Amino acid sequence: MEESSLLNKTSTQMEQANLFRETAGKVITCRAAIAWTTNAPLSIEKIEVDPPKAGEVRIKIIAAGLCGSDKHILEGKNKVPFPLILGHEGAGVVESIGEGVTSVKPGDKVLTFPLPECRECRFCLHPKGNFCVKEDILSPTGLMLDGTSRFTCRGRKIYNLYGTSTFTEYTVMHEIAVGKIDAAAPLEKVCILSCAVPTGFGAVFNTAKVTPGSTCVVFGLGGIGSAIVMACKASGASRIIGVDINEKKFPRARALGVTDCLNPENLNRPVQEVVVEMTGVGVDFAFEAIGYTNTMVAALESCHASYGVCVVIGIAPSNSHLFFDPMLILTGRTLKGDIMGEYKTRDSIPKLVTDYLQKKINTDPLITHSLPFEKINEAFALFQDVHGNWIVQNQIPDDEDGVQASTEMFLHAFHLLGDLLVIDKDQNWKECTSGI
Ligand code: NAD
Ligand code: ZN
Repeated sequence: MEESSLLNKTSTQMEQANLFRETAGKVITCRAAIAWTTNAPLSIEKIEVDPPKAGEVRIKIIAAGLCGSDKHILEGKNKVPFPLILGHEGAGVVESIGEGVTSVKPGDKVLTFPLPECRECRFCLHPKGNFCVKEDILSPTGLMLDGTSRFTCRGRKIYNLYGTSTFTEYTVMHEIAVGKIDAAAPLEKVCILSCAVPTGFGAVFNTAKVTPGSTCVVFGLGGIGSAIVMACKASGASRIIGVDINEKKFPRARALGVTDCLNPENLNRPVQEVVVEMTGVGVDFAFEAIGYTNTMVAALESCHASYGVCVVIGIAPSNSHLFFDPMLILTGRTLKGDIMGEYKTRDSIPKLVTDYLQKKINTDPLITHSLPFEKINEAFALFQDVHGNWIVQNQIPDDEDGVQASTEMFLHAFHLLGDLLVIDKDQNWKECTSGI
């Protein structure tokens, strides 16, 4: 069935459910951004999306974010099978379900999780474990659990990303990676709660357990780093040092709670030495949200020798190894890592959406601007080239209040925060920058 007629309609939930009944069980033809190879633009193409098999859910993606992990993969830093559909941070509406699916039904609003929660494996059953054995992150196959793909483009099999793939109008996922959320949730706002927000918040609340009055350093002030800053501030940290090589991130980081900004490229000695000197003894909590081994070691060395806790969130290039003096941990420092903020995805993350709706958390300031889906390559280019201002100079969107953003302000915001891809309320694809 051609999808374009569906896309042009802004439908009520009932109308949408009727439309979904027309497509259930059939192959859907829709648009997706295909990554045919690394270091090349994504190509927006017509694809065929198969109906969901047993235990699977087909989702109409309404909003999606562009995360540092998507960028790493496109740069070839992290190995995954190509060609594929990138994107793993998304929100949408269930179009149809496969046999045996019970936790969601057509019409439900959902978040897409790059990490499943099967609720059966030893990881899921452990009170703290969240790295479900059915994950496709460590050694990605890009396929569903039965070893096949649901995406075809120009007759070729297209792989998925982490069992998710959100840079497409429709995706198919396992039920165990789909979280039903409140029907009142604005998908273009809460899509960032599917990865970046829980990753940043959980690193602070669940893994580090930042205490009131403590000192923190955050390496990387992109999407994840900004969420970490927000959570450190909410935890009552007395000092939050932000480290980034892109100084355009600094004003926004300060607005979110950073007290001191450091650009390692402007220092005449290692940044960790400066952090230790600034705090006298090293920080209580350090976070690495970039994805390089040298910045991970720098974060560790920034911590207090006896009780400092370093949390690695950044994803290092495939096959890289951390080298550091073991005395760094022998003295008492703790080195930890976490995925998705240690949240059991399906159990916990929908509750964050409820918290958002109840105004207990406000992640809106983390979203700055949006661009149409067609400009997805510009979003990637901006993500990769911090000096690429010219790229969007002629394409400045109106902001949500209907005020035309100036080129400078728009670009400023874009670089300060991570990039986010969303589809707007009229069901058109949109990209926006997100700062979580
Ligand atoms: P991002 O690109 O928005 O932010 C990265 C920031 O690091 C940018 O502001 C950039 O300017 C800065 N930076 C780059 N090199 C630097 C350097 N040498 N020194 C200081 N700053 C530097 O990316 P993001 O979306 O915030 O993701 C951050 C990391 O978290 C990535 O590695 C991503 O893969 C990872 N990630 C981990 C999880 C998890 O569950 N652990 C989840 C999502 C993303
Ligand atoms: Zn599991």
